[in-house]
Amino acid sequence: MVNTNAIRGSRVGSGPMGESERGDAAPRVRVSFWCANGHETRPSFAQDREVEVPDVWDCPRCGLPAGQDRATPPEAPRIEPYKTHMAYVKERRSDSDGAALLDEALTRMRERGVGGGR
Ligand SMILES: [Zn+2]
Repeated sequence: MVNTNAIRGSRVGSGPMGESERGDAAPRVRVSFWCANGHETRPSFAQDREVEVPDVWDCPRCGLPAGQDRATPPEAPRIEPYKTHMAYVKERRSDSDGAALLDEALTRMRERGVGGGR
């Protein structure tokens, strides 16, 4: 039985996935970006010349801008505050509607109750 773990063992430490060892002619740098939703994107940039790695990369999953700093991803443009505001308004509205319905029901019950008593 051949133990292939020895070959794998020699690769440990070169990279998290060992992908950088595929031996491409053009050296590449892989940069991780994180969006506000926590999605990680790792586009690779060719290093033929001086490649400028952008500060912000669009997340392919949700479209939000992703940054290289995982702790502080770039803020989502407008979508989240707007959504929260809408949810807040909706909540308030349904709440007042519910109160109105309850009030109406109580009024009806009282009218019936008073009329039937005695
Ligand atoms: Zn995302």
